[in-house]
Amino acid sequence: MKFHFAMTAGLAGYILKNKMRPRPEWQRNAAANGGNGSANPFRILPPKAGEKHQPHPMIGKRFPIVLMLEPLHACNLTCTGCGRIREYESTISERVPLEECLLAVDECGAPVVSICGGEPLMYPPIGDLTAGILARNRYIYLCTNGMYIKRRLGEFRPDKRLYFNVHLDGMEKTHDLCVEREGVFREAVEGIRVAKAAGFQVCTNTTVYKETDMREIEELFEYLKQFNVDGHQIAPGYGYSAVDDREIFMTREDIHEKFKEFDRIAAKYPVRQTPMYMEFLRGERELPCTAWGNPTYNIKGWKGPCYLITDGHYKTFEELMTETPWESYGPGNDPRCEHCMMHCGFEPSAALGINAGLAGNLKMLAWTLR
Ligand code: SF4
Ligand code: SF4
Repeated sequence: MKFHFAMTAGLAGYILKNKMRPRPEWQRNAAANGGNGSANPFRILPPKAGEKHQPHPMIGKRFPIVLMLEPLHACNLTCTGCGRIREYESTISERVPLEECLLAVDECGAPVVSICGGEPLMYPPIGDLTAGILARNRYIYLCTNGMYIKRRLGEFRPDKRLYFNVHLDGMEKTHDLCVEREGVFREAVEGIRVAKAAGFQVCTNTTVYKETDMREIEELFEYLKQFNVDGHQIAPGYGYSAVDDREIFMTREDIHEKFKEFDRIAAKYPVRQTPMYMEFLRGERELPCTAWGNPTYNIKGWKGPCYLITDGHYKTFEELMTETPWESYGPGNDPRCEHCMMHCGFEPSAALGINAGLAGNLKMLAWTLR
């Protein structure tokens, strides 16, 4: 918990500094050219007669908080809800060279790097990549399906800024169904056990779908207590345009319903989501999308506007920040965003304290101390 506090306190300082003095080169609104990707066929819903879009509270104070670094898209699994292995099928065998990954870390400067993919433990220089990011004094969430932890653990050293973040969508039967292979849950849990025994910090990451039974999530957290895991992340899944199976994803109303009782579970286990984001999921608080807070870098460049939607890939981080027509996205602005409550768009808004007020800020303080 001490490390969690240090991380949260460090992030709070970073956010305050950037809110007070946003870097001017990221606030320009350059003519959008859609990067080198396809144009957005849905872009900009004109306001209806008499209706005006609210100006975005942070549009002139854009900065990144968490970099989503995808060094490769190859994976040993084919999960039902995964957009990556489908969207990047044509480049699935390619990898971002190590030096280029580190340049992306330097270029955007986000204090937290989430190494994802694909399966990052299939990236040959993953140990060097992690060491290079730690040498830059960043926090790392290494997001993995857990199956190769045991095999590759020797390439890492425990560090208070490094977390293995293991994906688990339920207990054994449910999880193996989601990832479409038997035995994955057991291997992932074995990875957790071995990593914890070797002195590493381990979190879990759960995606909630329409069919998810929240009692089973509670059962999962209770089961994981024996391994002394350091935290749980949880967020609703949302349909990537690359995933055909729309049936598994939820509407906003479904999400509100699903998370209505989650407070009780969050109070019992080390759930890492901020109270603001949780209130948002329960439908008790409005938040705008701040997708620039969670930029994604992969084999094609800086992916815009967000982790889910791809309307372009940009060569530089500055191009992503200045050429993306940010005000054209988010619920009410783009039909593809209508039901999105994903952490990549809204957790930065919660961390930024948008619409928080005094009560919200006090809740954040209490959460940090807890
Ligand atoms: S483990 Fe992750 S990257 Fe691999 S298929 Fe599943 S969701 Fe996609
Ligand atoms: S609302 Fe969701 S899908 Fe839309 S830009 Fe934001 S994060 Fe992306």
